Order: sequence, then structure tokens, then C-alpha cells
Amino acid sequence: MIINQPNSEEFQKLAHNCLAQAFNLIFEMDKAIFDFGEKALKEDVWKYSQGRLNTAVVLIHQTIESFMKASICETSPLLLLEGRRKDWPVLPGQDDRDFNDFYSTPAEALLRTYAATTKRSLSPDVVDHVEAIRTLRNRIVHGISRTALTPKKLIEDILDTFLLFEGPDVWWNALLQEFANHPLADAMGIHFGTQLAEFAERLDYVEASVGKAKFDRQFTLNTRARRYICPFCKLQWDAGVGYGRYPYTWAFLDKDSEGGPVVICLNCNIETPVVRKDCWYTACKGSVRFYGEDKDEIFCLTCGQIQYSGTEAEYVARQEQRRLEEQERVEKYLQEMLAKQTVDGQGSLPQSDAKKKRNRKKNESKE
Ligand SMILES: [Zn+2]
Ligand SMILES: [Zn+2]
Repeated sequence: MIINQPNSEEFQKLAHNCLAQAFNLIFEMDKAIFDFGEKALKEDVWKYSQGRLNTAVVLIHQTIESFMKASICETSPLLLLEGRRKDWPVLPGQDDRDFNDFYSTPAEALLRTYAATTKRSLSPDVVDHVEAIRTLRNRIVHGISRTALTPKKLIEDILDTFLLFEGPDVWWNALLQEFANHPLADAMGIHFGTQLAEFAERLDYVEASVGKAKFDRQFTLNTRARRYICPFCKLQWDAGVGYGRYPYTWAFLDKDSEGGPVVICLNCNIETPVVRKDCWYTACKGSVRFYGEDKDEIFCLTCGQIQYSGTEAEYVARQEQRRLEEQERVEKYLQEMLAKQTVDGQGSLPQSDAKKKRNRKKNESKE
């Protein structure tokens, strides 16, 4: 028998893994200069990072082959074997041989086997894409490549690969799965939530890289609709970061959902019930709110501000009260610092009341 025959899911998993790695290579390199880098500086960084971008091409190529193999395996993995069938040890009494000991199909034959067996309609776009990546990859692997690669081009190649072989939504889900299945994800505790909320940085990055139209084709959701803050992502981020404003808006409103309006977040894939009500702040044009369990968890999904329930005059008075409390807290903090310095001569940062309260809450919820 031919033992250890691979199956379709294994190749599909491999494909997703390679493509996620290719994306991460590019994103990790490019994000540092993405927001503020001058054009000339960006080009210098890309030139310096050609080796890394070349590796991404090799991974994209491996992904394409894995997608084709996954599809072929649905018919039979034996179609991946090249060589004479008379060498197959399949008759009674013959010794087993491992699948991996046989020669597997060379690239040209792989495309034809894929074309002959795929259940999807095979468009010329797929063939062109496979050929373009194969040529690029061969130049890199077999010689000294003179092709100047840019992150934009490779990000487009990654998106195209997912779209052509598996359709919309798969790209983002594959990245999320890679992230969530990391063996350390559990151990990260509260930081996992923060990192999940910050994962949305990739959506910002990819949309800005490839443009709104191409980005939108990756998803079944209409990403050109009005965008809101996702309550789940924001609360995760608030719990971990604790200050400032959650900067990403990747939730989309579904007014007609059964059981009332919801927002669906592209980043975390979570659906949250919301209320259609104007923002308390007149300067904000937002009209969708989230009502959490806590008073501090009622906020506008446009500006992210907590919604106050009293009148504007009460609000101003309360703000003033808060300002005084803060001032008092700062003074107390400084006094503690001074007292500590005189005791141990060094001084360390005392925890703020808010932080103590948060930690206490966290510990309680763990128990
Ligand atoms: Zn979310
Ligand atoms: Zn608002």
C-alpha cells in the first residue's frame, strides 16, 4: 500500500499558513514606515528588504501549489504522483511505501491536473495568476532576481490568491485563525483581547495599500458603507490599554437584523446588538449607541464617547467636579512620591486609584 496519503484539509491548512506568513513578513516590515515615512525613505526600506519580499513570493508560490493540491486531493491524492504506476506497491504481499517517497507532480502538470479536476469554474485569471507567480518565483529561486518588489504588489498578489482559489472573506479569516490558534494565545490573557482589537491595524493598512475598490472585493460585507466602532473590540482595548480612544472603525450596521439592529465587525467577526439613538454630544452626528451593563459602557459608536444621561448643565458641573478630583489625586500622588523618596531614596511609581480598582476587578473576575 501507499501509506500516509495527504488529504485536502492538510493542504488547505498549509496554504493558509503560508499565505498568513507571507502577509506577516510584509506587514511587519512595512507598518513602521507606513504612516509617516517619506516616499524616498519607503523606497530605501523596500530596497533594503528585497530578501524578505523575495521570501514572501516563495511563500505565495507555495500557497498556490497547496491550494491546487488541496483541490486535486478531493478527487484523489494519487493524482499528485508522477512516475510509473507499475512501481506502485499496491498488489497483495507488496511492502508499504510512504507517499512522500514518490516523486510528486511537477508544476506544469500540477496546473493541468488541477484544471482537469477542479469543481470551480477555471477562469483565465487563475491561469495567468499562477503563471505570473511561478515565473517570479523561479527568477528568485534559480537566479539573481532583478525585479524590484513592492509591498503593494505582493499584498495584491496575496489577496488575489485567496480570492481566486477560495473566494471572498477567506483571507481575513485565515489571518485571524492563525493569530487565535497560536499556542500562546491563551497565555496572553487580557493582552489577547487588546491584540485582537489592534489586529484591525492590518485592515487599515491593506485598504490604504490596495485602494478601497480592491479591498472591498475581498469581503461579502459592503466595506464602503458607513463605519462604526465595534463595541467588543473597543471594550477589549479599553480593558488592556485603559486610556485614549480606540482608533479603528470596522463595524458595519445591519438595521434589518432579526431581533433588532446590530453591528457586525469585520475585524473580530462578532455581531453586537445596538440602539439607534443620537449621540449625546451635539457636535457628533452619530446615531448608533452601544448599551453595556456598566454605566461607563454606554457609548456612541461614531465618536466612542460615553453617553451622559443628565442635562448639559449637570454634565458641566460634573466635569468640573472631576477636574478637581483629578487635581487632588495628582497632588496626593506627588506627596506619596516625595514621602517614598525620603524613605528609600529612590522612589517608585505608586499605582493610581483607577488602576488599583481595575486590577481588583480583574482579580475578582478571575476567581
Ligand atoms: Zn470587533
Ligand atoms: Zn458621538
